[in-house]
Formats: sequence, C-alpha cells, structure tokens
Amino acid sequence: QAKALGRNTFQFYTEAMDAEARQRATIASSLRKALERDELRLVFQPRMSLVDGRITGVEALLRWHSAELGDIPPSVFIPLAEESGQILRLGEWVLREACGTLARWRQHGLTDIAMAVNVSVLQLLRGNLPEVIAEIVEDTGIPPARLELEVTESMVMANAEQSTAALHALRALGVSLAIDDFGTGYSSLIYLKRLPIDTLKIDKEFVGDITHDPDDEAITATVITMAHSLGLNVIAEGVETEEQLAYLREQGCDEIQGFWLSQPLEPQRCLAFVHTWRPTLATAVPPPY
Ligand code: C2E
Ligand code: MG
Ligand code: MG
Ligand code: MG
Repeated sequence: QAKALGRNTFQFYTEAMDAEARQRATIASSLRKALERDELRLVFQPRMSLVDGRITGVEALLRWHSAELGDIPPSVFIPLAEESGQILRLGEWVLREACGTLARWRQHGLTDIAMAVNVSVLQLLRGNLPEVIAEIVEDTGIPPARLELEVTESMVMANAEQSTAALHALRALGVSLAIDDFGTGYSSLIYLKRLPIDTLKIDKEFVGDITHDPDDEAITATVITMAHSLGLNVIAEGVETEEQLAYLREQGCDEIQGFWLSQPLEPQRCLAFVHTWRPTLATAVPPPY
C-alpha cells in the first residue's frame, strides 16, 4: 500500500515537472524573439527621501508582453533569462534604454534624480559590464554617479570574491552600487563591509510586515542601524502604507519606494509624476507618537 502510494506520488511529480519544464522551455524560446519583436519595455518606479520628501531617483523595471503568451512577469522570465544566458543581451538593452530615458528626462529639467537598474550577477561575472557601461554613459552623456546598479544580496554573497572584484571595477567608473533584496540572503558582515557599495535596499518581505510582526520590525530596525554604521544609504522597498512609512522614518531610514508613493509608471507618466511632485505632501505625514 505504502509502496503503491509512493509510486503514484512519484509519477504525479514527474508529470507535473515535465509540464513545468515544457512551459519553461516555451517561455524561454519566446523570450529569444522578444527583443526583435519589440515586446519589451521599461516602467519606472520613483523613490522618495524621508528627510525632505524629494524624489531622489527611479528604478527601471522590465516588462514583457509576448504576442504568443501574453504578459509574463519578471519573476518568471528573469530567472529563465539567467539560466539561458539571454540576460546578457536583455540586460544590455535595459541599461541602454534606462540611460537613454534618463538623458531625455535631464533635457526636461530632471537633473537631480538617479536611475537605478537591476543587474544580474551573470552580467556582473561573465559579461564585459564595465566596458558596456562606460560606452553607454559616454553615448547618453549622463553623469555616471546618476546611474545606480542594483545586485541582489543572495547572488552577490553566493559569489562573494568574484562579485567584490567586479563591483570594484564598476565603482572605478563612478557609478553607484546598491545591494537589492537585503535580508533574504545570508550576508557575511565581513563581505558586506568590504563591498564597495553605497546603498542597501531592505527587501519588501520585511517591510510588508513591520507594523504587525515584531520580528520583522526588529530586523528592519537592526538593518538600518547596521547600514548606517557602515556608512550606507538605506532604502526600504515595498512601502504600501502610511503606518509603514511613519515607522521607517522613526527608525531613521533614508528613503522609501513602494505603492504608497507610486506604482511603476510608463516613462511619460513618470516624468509628469516627478515634475508635479510636491515634497510637502510627503513630509506632512506625522510620526506615530
Ligand atoms: P526588485 O528589483 O526588488 O524590484 C521591486 C519589485 O517590487 C518590482 O517587481 C516592483 O514592481 C515591486 N513593488 C514595488 N513596490 C511595491 C509594493 O509597494 N508592494 C509590492 N508588493 N511590490 C512592490 P517586478 O517589477 O515584478 O520585478 C520583480 C523583480 O524582477 C525585481 O525585483 C528584479 O529582481 C527583477 N527585475 C525586474 N526588472 C529587471 C531587469 O531589468 N533586470 C534584472 N536583472 N532583473 C529585473
Ligand atoms: Mg531592484
Ligand atoms: Mg528588491
Ligand atoms: Mg514575517
């Protein structure tokens, strides 16, 4: 009986896994045509300083509408693009597009905001990223310090030695560096101290629960203190409520990003958002005591 059950269970899993593998292969093969078919675009999510309520920058986020498969979220296609190596080509497109957009916005007077771009560790370790970025910065004429590269904590720490060297090479170009999804990986504090980074982004998983989970509250407060003692700027991502914002401000978090401020926006709408944003709206939020 147990044996029969075991066999059925096994069969069930292999069938499910086959179906999933086939689906992933379908998505990966469509993704190969996405660039030529013009199916990719960027949206931009603003972030705000908790000190003065100014918009300090935006994050470029990749969107894919496949003619064959419909909208596929980055949580699905980015890992596939990393597995297949396509992320090198896609990532370069993202960097060009994001920097080109920032260059246009700068002509519209937005000269004091940064453009944050997510970079896969594969780009960092296998690609000629410093050369690519030097060329893009030159072509678009943006100040390198206005470009911020985000790499996820788990990816960097899994390749700590090589990542550190690659980040130093990027830093030499004058671009800013941030560790993304901080708190979800297993950072060695030694490496964290050695990394040539400017910013930590606290993962939205902790931020989402700070106002009702004491553990997440403690983790968030500790990360902010630790980051500041290492001289790093701290951004909380996934801030959705005024309560979360008030708590983060009370803890001395430097900046916030999330639906409370804005969803990711089309380029034109993002430009309009930043132009019409008035810091007083944000700074008027009272502390919780
Ligand atoms: P991420 O870099 O941590 O980006 C933040 C994600 O949180 C985005 O999801 C954003 O839409 C979402 N988000 C923002 N505010 C809120 C909020 O208040 N609540 C909630 N629940 N979510 C919020 P998205 O756009 O689906 O991207 C997911 C991940 O895919 C990104 O996480 C990033 O790791 C990756 N990704 C996106 N675009 C690129 C890209 O161009 N290159 C690479 N390598 N990865 C990318
Ligand atoms: Mg990011
Ligand atoms: Mg993140
Ligand atoms: Mg929790």
